[in-house]
Amino acid sequence: KNNKGEYLMLVEGSIPTGADGVYCCIGGRTAEDIVKEAAENAKAIVAWGSCASNGCIQSANPNPTSATPVHKIISGKPIINVPGCPPIGEVMAGVIVHLLAFDRIPQLDGLGRPKAFYSRRVHDTCYRRPNYDAGLFVETFDDENAKRGYCLYKMGCRGPVTYNSCGVIKWNNGVSYPIQSGHGCIGCSEANFWDNGPFYQHLASFPGFGIETTADTIGVAVGAATAVGIAAHAITTNLKKRKLIAEEINHSETASVDKKGDK
Ligand code: SF4
Repeated sequence: KNNKGEYLMLVEGSIPTGADGVYCCIGGRTAEDIVKEAAENAKAIVAWGSCASNGCIQSANPNPTSATPVHKIISGKPIINVPGCPPIGEVMAGVIVHLLAFDRIPQLDGLGRPKAFYSRRVHDTCYRRPNYDAGLFVETFDDENAKRGYCLYKMGCRGPVTYNSCGVIKWNNGVSYPIQSGHGCIGCSEANFWDNGPFYQHLASFPGFGIETTADTIGVAVGAATAVGIAAHAITTNLKKRKLIAEEINHSETASVDKKGDK
């Protein structure tokens, strides 16, 4: 109360609102009551992690406790969502430093996430991306392609539709992150990610698109719009590579013929 309108409120966890909030009570009061009271005079609110930002696993279907993210309970206050399951430590520190150093809310995307950390897809900064572009995929977690570090798209990787800094900042002081450890991204910084389909099923159907049939041998008649975009990208990239290689070979052959002619 001494810092009315001047303090930052940091929230961890979703708020169960079912059965009049009885699933989370502290000192006889519901979490919902406490959050509302604390938010009333806050300067801004930061929702740490996917639970506070979008409800996460507690709010997954059928959501028995009616777990609810902060932004659906509090209105009229700046709310910064920092999703991730868990969120990246350096990202959390970066958000706090920004608030303290500049005394203003960072630029946010449509889901209330700071653009500085959530403006690029995991796919865009992935070190396995050249394998994706070349149509080289892991088919099962224990195959030779997994040992070679090929792309995990076919194992259900959500990198192409997930915005986060995992590929840049990584975890544990930059030691590794899920994709580097051999597991696809599960899209934990996206809204309702637990209900966004099976984790081990790839995003769209690519008939005949695999290691043995490279991207430029498949047709473009794939169903989903996402698949069209992704397939088109892979096809274009492979065709460009093939053209460059052909030009290089032609150039070498021409140079060789010229040399013979000189003799
Ligand atoms: S699909 Fe996943 S593993 Fe493959 S390049 Fe994209 S982010 Fe990396």
